[in-house]
Amino acid sequence: MKETDVVIVGRGALAIFASIVARRRGLDAVRVGTGLPFERFLLLHENALRILERTCGEVVGHPLKGIRVLDRGLDLLRDMSFSRYGLRLHAMRYSALLSFLRERDDTPEVEGRVVVLEGDGLVRMEDGGAFRARRMVVNTAAGFAAPRLRFRHRKVFRTGFVDHCPDPDRVVQINDAGTYAAIVPFGRGAAIACSGDPAPLVRFLGGDPGLSDFRELHLETWCGTGMRQGRIFHVGEAMRRVHPHTGQGLNRALDTVDAIFAGDELFRERVYDCLMWAGGVMLDLSWGTSPLLRDLSYAVLDNAPGMKLLSGTMWWRRSRAS
Ligand SMILES: Cc1cc2nc3c(=O)[nH]c(=O)nc-3n(C[C@H](O)[C@H](O)[C@H](O)COP(=O)(O)OP(=O)(O)OC[C@H]3O[C@@H](n4cnc5c(N)ncnc54)[C@H](O)[C@@H]3O)c2cc1C
Repeated sequence: MKETDVVIVGRGALAIFASIVARRRGLDAVRVGTGLPFERFLLLHENALRILERTCGEVVGHPLKGIRVLDRGLDLLRDMSFSRYGLRLHAMRYSALLSFLRERDDTPEVEGRVVVLEGDGLVRMEDGGAFRARRMVVNTAAGFAAPRLRFRHRKVFRTGFVDHCPDPDRVVQINDAGTYAAIVPFGRGAAIACSGDPAPLVRFLGGDPGLSDFRELHLETWCGTGMRQGRIFHVGEAMRRVHPHTGQGLNRALDTVDAIFAGDELFRERVYDCLMWAGGVMLDLSWGTSPLLRDLSYAVLDNAPGMKLLSGTMWWRRSRAS
């Protein structure tokens, strides 16, 4: 059995980020994982950009001014400007972030499925191999922590990419009775996530983007309790799944990894996770059933404190105060 300070479980962006942070802190680390996450878009908020910049020395992604919300007639409901509050919002492909992080990482990686995690730092692989973490196990793989506060969405999402975008400066959200779409530009082209009636999206794009070839996602939202089990820290989608339309999954997870290695209290991370989970559920419930709830959600967010909350900069982590 191999012993190291830190064992990181997973091969996604979060696992690689955790490996970089561990090595920067002088810890001996190994990463174990299997498979590769599927392609998707990412919106990176101010806090995540600061964390990535501080750790990797460079800003990533395509800068956007904010989010424009339209109704099904494509009339403007809200123009939420992050730049007005001095907050950044960048978009990028998941694979681009993965390559960016991989180029900066030299952590040894072992390919294989993890089947057992134990609180004393034992990590058992399907092929019989095992590792022991002297300090901690950072787990990014779902399935080892019981999901709580579960909300099953009845909506099916489709996600894919197009090579042109009518508004290259902003995320456009169509959010109205029976229809939802997010169009996220990258500079050249855009990512689309949609649910329900596609007609307003098709009108906005000036034609069908090839929806029948898009990846279908059946999403559920949940927020676990007990992020820590002995030496194991469950982070990102190992601990909770927030809806992609809130653009918070990776953003929150980067913050949590940063907090773990900085030795900060995790209670605050949990509160933030739960707030984001509740916000996602509220937005999701509002589609097609209550324009009032939808408008209320945006009104709560479209001001300086709301945008700070969304950008992850409202937080009062001890290590950030200095
Ligand atoms: C369509 C879509 C859009 C999104 N948009 C945003 C956004 O705009 N902003 C944002 O912040 N977040 C967004 N998210 C969420 C974000 O992508 C995830 O929260 C984040 O990527 C999770 O981190 P990860 O990539 O490391 O995890 P995962 O992709 O879940 O990776 C986990 C890794 O662990 C490996 N693994 C799994 N099981 C095992 C096992 N038993 N043993 C070993 N390895 C294992 C997997 O193969 C994988 O490599 C979006 C998600 C989707 C689906």
